[in-house]
Amino acid sequence: MRWKVPGQVMVSCVFPPRCPICGELRFPWESGTCTECAERLSYIQEPVCLACGREISSCEKEYCTECEKLRPVVERNFAVWQYDRWMKRSIADFKYEGRTEYAPFYARNIVQCYGARLKRLGVSVLVPVPCSKKRKRFRGYNQAEVLSGVLAKELDCKVCRLLRRTKDTLPQNALAPAERKKNLIGAFAWDERAAGELVTVPAVVAIVDDIYTTGNTMNSCAAVLKQHGVREVYGISVCVGGAR
Ligand SMILES: [Zn+2]
Ligand SMILES: [Zn+2]
Repeated sequence: MRWKVPGQVMVSCVFPPRCPICGELRFPWESGTCTECAERLSYIQEPVCLACGREISSCEKEYCTECEKLRPVVERNFAVWQYDRWMKRSIADFKYEGRTEYAPFYARNIVQCYGARLKRLGVSVLVPVPCSKKRKRFRGYNQAEVLSGVLAKELDCKVCRLLRRTKDTLPQNALAPAERKKNLIGAFAWDERAAGELVTVPAVVAIVDDIYTTGNTMNSCAAVLKQHGVREVYGISVCVGGAR
């Protein structure tokens, strides 16, 4: 009965519930999306690449063609959905349109798909991919930090901002593949202040981002973490896209 949960009603008035995929106003269905979008979601299914976590065509193979050529720095990336047109829209709204209320939906699915596995691997610290101060000021938030915060509660982990952006890079998706790597050279650094708040450098962490495409961003981040003594670095991304 509505009158028994005034808190919930109030929250709903401030943030009318939306389907996190199509963005339509909706009643809060249990699945978290509207009925149409529940059908549209394209969950990553086996067989997957043992490095980047994208679907591959054959069970005979362990890695996708990209990871066969160059093994990622992250031990393994865990992604929930294909980066198709529906997720593209959802992520764009989450990232640029202030729809931070989508984070619990993403987090819940990450936990359902990989929560037990991440626990078994010993992940106790989440590191959000940082964005530049300028971009954060403009948008008002960093989507990877928002997602990390919600996810950390669900996974009973800590969020440590062990990385910072040292330069305002161009958006990766605006660049040709060859340019993407160059764009990120020296873009991330170890954040001494955040690291100083820890007793020891964590042995196993997971970097959190919205999309894993070429993996350049996540791998640049992982390289910095490993240089500073993190032993194992995993990746968590809402979506994975790009070539197989
Ligand atoms: Zn929908
Ligand atoms: Zn791969």
